[in-house]
Amino acid sequence: MEKTFFMIKPDGVKRGLIGEVLHRIERRGFVIEELDMRMITQDLLEEHYSELVDKPFFPSIAEFMMSGPVVAGIISGPEVVKSWREMLGATNPLEAHPGTIRGDFATAPNGGSIQNIAHGSDSLASAEREIAIWFEK
Ligand code: UDP
Ligand code: MG
Repeated sequence: MEKTFFMIKPDGVKRGLIGEVLHRIERRGFVIEELDMRMITQDLLEEHYSELVDKPFFPSIAEFMMSGPVVAGIISGPEVVKSWREMLGATNPLEAHPGTIRGDFATAPNGGSIQNIAHGSDSLASAEREIAIWFEK
């Protein structure tokens, strides 16, 4: 069965949306395989977002992502990688459709970063890479 990595970001945790996000995962029929609340270290964040480390806005992302605990997990199900990305909606909440997590619970970029409640791996290869970084070390 396909697996993907997901995360409820610090804004989602602070706003009391852990249950809401997990509810959507379970309602859809996906299975929560791993779940872990933790603070992100700079090292883990740089590995997780390795393609963004050199961007000028990375310090803002780092400040946001380390501003409080995240809930990281693995979910499984048929075509879960693509489905979970669809359930998240567009990266910029202003472009995310109603009915998606980002479209229902987030609005505009906040400060220097886009605070958009939750994360999902963008491909099978990313899912494998991110699961290894977060859960197999
Ligand atoms: N991000 C940001 N500013 C940008 C691009 C990305 O703050 O200009 C943040 C945002 O939280 C986003 C994350 O970095 O969700 C990862 O970016 P990516 O392009 O991979 O978007 P995602 O896969 O999360 O939709
Ligand atoms: Mg991404």
